[in-house]
Amino acid sequence: MSLVVALSGGVGGAKLALGLSRVLPAEELLVVCNTGDDFEHLGLSVSPDIDTVMYTLAGLANAELGWGRADESWAFMETLAAIGGETWFRLGDRDLAVHVERTRRLLAGEDLSAVTAEFCTRLGVLPRVVPMTDHRVRTRVRTEDGWIAFQDYFVRQQCRPVVRQIAFSGADEARPQPEFLAALRDEKLRAVVICPSNPFISVEPILALPGVRTALEACAAPVIAVSPIIAGRAIKGPTAKMMAELGLDVSAAGVAARYGDLLDGYVVDHADAASVPGAVAATTLMKTIEDRENLARVVLGLAYRLRGCQLRE
Ligand code: GDP
Repeated sequence: MSLVVALSGGVGGAKLALGLSRVLPAEELLVVCNTGDDFEHLGLSVSPDIDTVMYTLAGLANAELGWGRADESWAFMETLAAIGGETWFRLGDRDLAVHVERTRRLLAGEDLSAVTAEFCTRLGVLPRVVPMTDHRVRTRVRTEDGWIAFQDYFVRQQCRPVVRQIAFSGADEARPQPEFLAALRDEKLRAVVICPSNPFISVEPILALPGVRTALEACAAPVIAVSPIIAGRAIKGPTAKMMAELGLDVSAAGVAARYGDLLDGYVVDHADAASVPGAVAATTLMKTIEDRENLARVVLGLAYRLRGCQLRE
């Protein structure tokens, strides 16, 4: 048996995680989700990236919205609005049940890993899905008006503020999820895949956990990223805007530069083939299920090749 670890945020990460889940035996895939986006809202513990990955792998994701569940209804939000509640963060009725039950279990003393594993099993998700940590890490964004919580920036202000700095509060004291760390040391590890997620707010919270960068550098398997930027643009979300605001080159090459020595392999879109020397070019815009599977095969194929000749000594 071999093992592949995928580091994922929400939408872009979940797309490739789904592709990987369809070309690998379930027991060979471990998806590690960012929890820097997690927050407490209306008294509930919300874990957006875990839920996006979970719903996507369960075949329950809302394709039109790009978040939440398909076949959703909104009676809770409508009622909340009618009585003057906070409605800037939308929670569908079906989705709500997940947050309510997660909150109850966390308050009863279970950790986020156990809750996530149980929900995934119940919803028919076969690969392992784990939070990056069971400890509290919260992404914060420094704007021209000072530091704000991530969801305030992302959802309430719809990424409008200019980002000057990003911090992961609690990351220094957090421990990476044990199965994640164990997988990085596992001799069966065949690849670590950095999904095409936002580097700053989806991947870097994971990399900020103590020991993760060192474990990635030390692991025998190649670390391979897929660019979330295609031809200078993000498919969705603020990745390109953030790169520009942080003074980085908004390109697939800019993402590779940000990851730096961590990468052994890099997959870019055909559109960017000429601009990133040494990268493998593929169709990286995942519109269909076949696109997701094909990109997963490209990444795994590259991992096989790199294991024969590691770039890094
Ligand atoms: P979030 O937590 O929901 O913002 O999700 P992620 O960080 O996982 O995903 C956002 C990133 O995914 C953006 O930078 C998008 O450009 C990228 N993305 C979304 N769909 C695709 C796709 O089909 N292909 C590639 N290469 N990137 C994608």
